[in-house]
Amino acid sequence: MLKKKEYEEIKKACIEDSEEAVVFGEGNLDAKIVLVGEAPGSKEIELKRPFVGQAGKNLDEFLEVVELNREEIYITNVVKIRPYRINEKTGRKVNRPPNKKEIENYSKYLLEELNIIRPKLIVTLGNVPLKTLTDRKEIKVSEVHGNVINIEDKMIFPLYHPAAVIYNRKLKSVYLEDLIKLREYICSNIRKK
Ligand code: URA
Repeated sequence: MLKKKEYEEIKKACIEDSEEAVVFGEGNLDAKIVLVGEAPGSKEIELKRPFVGQAGKNLDEFLEVVELNREEIYITNVVKIRPYRINEKTGRKVNRPPNKKEIENYSKYLLEELNIIRPKLIVTLGNVPLKTLTDRKEIKVSEVHGNVINIEDKMIFPLYHPAAVIYNRKLKSVYLEDLIKLREYICSNIRKK
């Protein structure tokens, strides 16, 4: 119960510190596996949940291959607000990658979420969570994907962001191989214990 209270306090602080709408993480606070994405998009802001809409569909396919369901994991993002710019022609908001300041502002909440949950494995989706959690600017998902990295008390399994696979179809088979490796890792190191 203490865990839940601490969690709600952090979530509240994050919402209060933000000028924009926040999408905090969601899921099982006792999860052994946490998935970390980059930042919410428009659908996530609308529904106040991470990875819904198209991104959610991609994630659900991912979870099916890895044989995980949303109830047993926790899903979050490095940045909890939607990074956007205004398209001058249409006047509409368009997504952009989070900037350094946004990453710096929000990574403290990510670390607090992880501190409360203390998962056995953190699956990073794309470069933003990988760089943030390893604290290595030069690290690239293209060089380390599919292999576990042990940083201090954290085990990190880096994967490409599911959206990258849509933009670059060549990644599809590599991505599938990584998901199978992840399933095997979970089967022999996490479920058994
Ligand atoms: N939706 C999220 O919540 N995170 C992402 O990284 C992409 C889409």
